[in-house]
Amino acid sequence: MSNYITITDVKKHVGEEVTIGAWVANKSGKGKIAFLQLRDGTAFFQGVAFKPNFIEKFGEEVGTEKFNTIKKLSQESSVYVTGVVKEDERSKFGYELDITDIQVIGSSEDYPITPKEHGTDFLMDNRHLWLRSRKQMAMMRIRNAIIYASYEFFDQNGFVKFDSPILSGNAAENTTELFETDYFGNPAFLSQSGQLYLEAGMMALGRVYDFGPVFRAEKSKTRRHLTEFWMMDAEYPFLTHDQSLDLQEAYVKALIQGVLDRAPEALEILDRDTDLLKKYIAEPFKRVSYDDAIDLLKEHADDEDADYEPIEHGDDFGSPHETWISNYFGVPTFIVNYPASFKAFYMKPVPGNEERVLCADLLAPEGYGEIIGGSERETDYDKLYNKIVENGLDPKDYDWYLDLRKYGTVPHAGFGLGLERMVTFVAGTKHIREAIPFPRMLHRIKP
Ligand code: ATP
Ligand code: MG
Repeated sequence: MSNYITITDVKKHVGEEVTIGAWVANKSGKGKIAFLQLRDGTAFFQGVAFKPNFIEKFGEEVGTEKFNTIKKLSQESSVYVTGVVKEDERSKFGYELDITDIQVIGSSEDYPITPKEHGTDFLMDNRHLWLRSRKQMAMMRIRNAIIYASYEFFDQNGFVKFDSPILSGNAAENTTELFETDYFGNPAFLSQSGQLYLEAGMMALGRVYDFGPVFRAEKSKTRRHLTEFWMMDAEYPFLTHDQSLDLQEAYVKALIQGVLDRAPEALEILDRDTDLLKKYIAEPFKRVSYDDAIDLLKEHADDEDADYEPIEHGDDFGSPHETWISNYFGVPTFIVNYPASFKAFYMKPVPGNEERVLCADLLAPEGYGEIIGGSERETDYDKLYNKIVENGLDPKDYDWYLDLRKYGTVPHAGFGLGLERMVTFVAGTKHIREAIPFPRMLHRIKP
């Protein structure tokens, strides 16, 4: 076989005979001509086989046999296909392969996912195969671009990667959404967030971040919740709350830019409006207080698009409220200073107002809802201790965390961004389940 290359590299080999390892995504043609839609993970590519060329090259018998092999290839068969790369303006990709030889690697009989429409449950049951479809491949490439951009942003901004544990002897912040497991006869829990550990890392290394799977036993069946998802947490000393928001804004913009730069084809496959994405980078994010947001919701309660339950000061937002707010502003919007009563115990109160805390949720526009939760952290030992008790948690479980306020406490803040929420938003898809290779949800843990 000649020169083995991937599909994205064909542009460097115009006029040459090359071999590509690929899967047959689709096939068409009739009589003496066959078209193969080839896929190798890097891109899609059309190959054309012409029977007379095969006969000329291999003789009547072998030539006919090879051509018939191509004609009989079924969806998702794997092949080595050899051919000459031609520039072709009619093809979407700009190139085409003039097939000169074929070798079947693995056959594929009755592939379950045909080009016709399938229901979501069926596709989810076949997630291991569904991942091969054009749209799902695009989702995974966007995910990859966001991960890459995240590492790049943190590295360029002086952060050290500091990995938090996944198994823990106690809850991070709330006990209702914990997955419990047996740890040599004692209970242990899967991490809901790496934050508390990251605070310890911050006091050793300055700016730190982690990136790993977290687990929430959420019984909620929304299009935004998974039970296992990947979180980017960051923690940094000596920044004010406003500076923390500046950092988060720069981070989210860098992630969007990273996708525009590194996965433009994926955005195109998904038909994503990239002008909107560019607008989110160009325009400043909005910052609105929780109380002003409540006023706004009350004011617009009778609007036609106000698809939410009545809400009062002191109530938490539901998804429909978040959706409406994020649509209203049209750019990512920080909701700052929520009531302390429904936020985690470690958040620092707003100076002069114990009822509100220095925190922010970042709501993505277009109805995508919360993508980041962040706050300034309580620095005072006694206040933190009392908050732990008030929240019904056992201070003994948090002795190590309290130590961080005992030995050189400093002002610090941090945030957590849910990777799959970010992927869903940048990709412009409706449901979070397509943003992770194998989603885990209330009624789904297979495949
Ligand atoms: P929500 O109110 O939407 O449930 P949360 O307040 O529980 O979110 P945090 O605990 O602040 O979220 O977690 C930080 C980030 O992790 C969120 O901003 C979101 O991007 C993401 N996230 C939280 N829960 C989930 C989930 N169940 N599935 C996917 N991502 C999630
Ligand atoms: Mg939650």
